[in-house]
Amino acid sequence: MIQSKKYNVMSFVLLIMRIIPLQSLYNILHTILSSLLPAAKTLAIANFIDSAGSIFEGEKEFSSIYIPILLILACIVIENVMPALLQLVNTSGRNKLNIVIKKDITRKCARLEYKHIENKDTCELVNRVCLNPIKNFEDGFQNILKGIGLFIHTVSLFIIVMSSTFIGGIAILGISIPLFGLAFKTGHKNYEMEKRASNIKRKYDYLSDVLIDKKYAEERKLFSYSNSLSRQYEGLFNKSYKLESEIEIKKYFNMKSGSLVTILISLVIMTILLPAIAAGRMSIGVYIALVSAVFNLVQSMSWQLAGAMHEFARLKEYLKEFSVFMTLSEKEGASDIPSVDGKFSFESLEFKNVTFKYPGTENYVLKNCSFKLDNFKNYAFVGENGAGKTTITKLIIGLYDDYEGEILINGKSIREIEYARLKGMISVVFQDYARYFLTVKENIVFGNLSSVNDERVWEVLKECGLFDTVKPLNDDINTYLGKVYENSVDFSGGQWQKLAIARLLYSDSAINILDEPTASLDPIAEAKLYELFNSIKKERFTIYITHRLGAARIADEILVIGDGHIIEQGSHRKLMENEEGIYRKMYMNQRSWYAGARNAEQYKFMGEV
Ligand code: ADP
Repeated sequence: MIQSKKYNVMSFVLLIMRIIPLQSLYNILHTILSSLLPAAKTLAIANFIDSAGSIFEGEKEFSSIYIPILLILACIVIENVMPALLQLVNTSGRNKLNIVIKKDITRKCARLEYKHIENKDTCELVNRVCLNPIKNFEDGFQNILKGIGLFIHTVSLFIIVMSSTFIGGIAILGISIPLFGLAFKTGHKNYEMEKRASNIKRKYDYLSDVLIDKKYAEERKLFSYSNSLSRQYEGLFNKSYKLESEIEIKKYFNMKSGSLVTILISLVIMTILLPAIAAGRMSIGVYIALVSAVFNLVQSMSWQLAGAMHEFARLKEYLKEFSVFMTLSEKEGASDIPSVDGKFSFESLEFKNVTFKYPGTENYVLKNCSFKLDNFKNYAFVGENGAGKTTITKLIIGLYDDYEGEILINGKSIREIEYARLKGMISVVFQDYARYFLTVKENIVFGNLSSVNDERVWEVLKECGLFDTVKPLNDDINTYLGKVYENSVDFSGGQWQKLAIARLLYSDSAINILDEPTASLDPIAEAKLYELFNSIKKERFTIYITHRLGAARIADEILVIGDGHIIEQGSHRKLMENEEGIYRKMYMNQRSWYAGARNAEQYKFMGEV
């Protein structure tokens, strides 16, 4: 329902009315009736007092009091019944809004071009817009109604005041208009301050996570950084608290100063009107009604209306950011599940003079990078950290397409391959692969949601050595992992890694990339995991990415990346023969990493040159 377009207050209201038509209509009706209520009550009370006076003085029949009493009763019923009903209506409205908005916003996030997720500014904007959209939508709509209600309320009271004291009405209006302007301006400023506060909050929330969460417990104990981080946490917390207090104080003074001025004016008006009663030009009923109307008016103009203006300004700022979010560019097919073409048979993957820099940066990560990888061989990309290995993976899987040159699969440019098909061809285990706190089975079948099959899940569990871990669990493959659910089981780091590999195996993709999924482990563990994968991958075409050469050795061919392109290529033996080669130098430097394994007779090859 939410379209990728710019939203202003009007289109925002129309959007809400489309999502929850009945609830919106009830809200509008409630707003109109309840905002006319103070004026109606004022008139009913004036009528009641004047009728009662006339009855005592014998000018009117007793029955003349019935209509004012009925009017007052009607006001009381409306005042008490409608809000209770409103609560019910709004609860159902909130549920519907929740479903529609969450779904549409999640869909938009899934379709976003990847560059927006990696870009700091857009990433922060997405976080802000998506953090609590329901609250922003609901509060926004309610604040607009509140504003409209206050307007009706104010105008109706004005009519009453102006009909008795024209100059008094003009005086209240003259003072109030500049006050609204001020409230509106502070609303804008406050949203900016809230933005700053929310960025700081995100930082201290993260620090709090590091200080408490189990996954940091070992290092927390070892390095004893808790005190130092706590100080940082306190600093940020105080900074955000100061900002928030500043916002509240500004809001308060802004409104309070307004209300004080208008209260003074109304007192003057009330005093001015006293001689009119003494002279019998104004009835007591009208005077009392007028006092109540003026104070009501002052209350609504100086306090509530200023508050509503403030919220309105906030909503406008939110809608500005929401519009930017909704119009961020999307990647066609980004949210489609990978489509696996059974007939696709991989032949080659080629980079032809690929030159690439990340959007918004100046430095080229790849410069005229060219290589060709053929089926039936294993390849390893090696290079220092930051050389561009992961960037190559991101380009192969189509996360960026604003590169120069060509990337070809079986001779066809990947720009011409439908995105869902491209995703079906390639699977990757990333360095920071995800750990889903869902069931074992869900963790695996995410690899290929178009074909969910328990037998295959068990097969891949066996292949990657997790069968004996999962089989004894209470709900075997339906057991929840992580720490979120009751009776869930937590895996060790190595077991999570194998699960990520199981997901890749389940995908049945023709091209597989292992992008240093073991970077957090020691070099020997990485080499072992790559060997395990090599032994179970069968006919799959695989690219290993690593900066640790013990693991790269299992590949038939090694490509060394440096200066944005391939600087050396060949088998381990061939590369080692080049006395001046970079690979040989890196290899000799890293030999000591594997000393433990060499002693254990497991990685004797590291001793060979
Ligand atoms: P490797 O995988 O070889 O360690 P990467 O491909 O991750 O290296 O990074 C290559 C270079 O690109 C590094 O200098 C890194 O800082 C930079 N880089 C990586 N991701 C981004 C990004 N999203 N925006 C800007 N620069 C990036």
